[in-house]
Amino acid sequence: MYLDRDQMLVVLNALPDPVFVLTETGLYAGLYGHADPKYYHDAKDLLGASVRDVMPAEVAESIMEHIQEALHRNGLLKVEYPLSSQQVKGLENSAGPGGTLWFEGHVQPFPGLVDGERAVIWVARNITRRKQLEDELLEASQTDPLTHVANRRRLMEVLEFHFGAYRRYRHPMALIMFDLDHFKQLNDRFGHLTGDRVLRCLCDLCRQDLRENDLLARFGGEEFMIVLPSTTAERAAQTAERIRTHISTGVAAELDEELNVTISLGVSELLETDTSLEQVIQRVDDAVYQAKDEGRDRVVVNAAG
Ligand code: GH3
Ligand code: MG
Ligand code: MG
Repeated sequence: MYLDRDQMLVVLNALPDPVFVLTETGLYAGLYGHADPKYYHDAKDLLGASVRDVMPAEVAESIMEHIQEALHRNGLLKVEYPLSSQQVKGLENSAGPGGTLWFEGHVQPFPGLVDGERAVIWVARNITRRKQLEDELLEASQTDPLTHVANRRRLMEVLEFHFGAYRRYRHPMALIMFDLDHFKQLNDRFGHLTGDRVLRCLCDLCRQDLRENDLLARFGGEEFMIVLPSTTAERAAQTAERIRTHISTGVAAELDEELNVTISLGVSELLETDTSLEQVIQRVDDAVYQAKDEGRDRVVVNAAG
């Protein structure tokens, strides 16, 4: 009723993922499964080699650490790690997926000794697709689909982060809010699709005036915010003024000279008296209202408590 050794090997080799037996000194002592080249390179040339001989030093060291950790805890260890076949000597030219792959390793102690050494069973599952989907999902959950700038969810996360840093270390942070002037009229006259194009163009222009660490985000329909870390309201006002002039000529130059697009901007910064994020958001909002009241196409700074 029992399978003989060869039959058991057939079963093991039918497993979709590679199953390695790695000794404590890093020797590849066994390898089973992983027949599908769509997911894995054929790694049988690694048998008898040592991890340190076939992997770059830092990758080999982390594998050796994981082996030690699994042996030490005497139980299952799960690790995620990136690896490309180009990094592994002996696999460079074998058939298999290209680029950097992500693996989930299930590492557990081998009962008894292998070749006189302690060893682990290391099952490596290709999770590249899942990682890609996770990245895409995260990106989509943080991005505005029309303009591709950060959405309100991402904005609030970043604001919370900087608010925390300000409360603890007094790292300054400035905030700019802007709203398109008479955008309803523009939509009515040129159509909603042109309005959409204006929003996209405006974001592209605006980004050209920002530093890498600044965050442009869509706060609502035609309202945007810019988070400027390590910046005072005074400096942010200069950036806001640059953006204002850029937009007032740039959108027409890019899209259609009949499009007269201007924005009203409010500027503020975190203050010692702020006990919540809402207070700085309220200040930039008030400043935008004031800019509208005073005739639009201008910057108003509201940095007082
Ligand atoms: P104000 O200068 O006072 O801000 O006037 P306004 O016309 O810009 O302000 P209002 O709030 O009356 O209108 C905002 C307009 O923005 C109305 C809405 O249709 C438009 N809008 C909001 N989101 C979008 C969008 O995604 N695409 C387009 N094309 N228009 C949008
Ligand atoms: Mg508005
Ligand atoms: Mg408006």
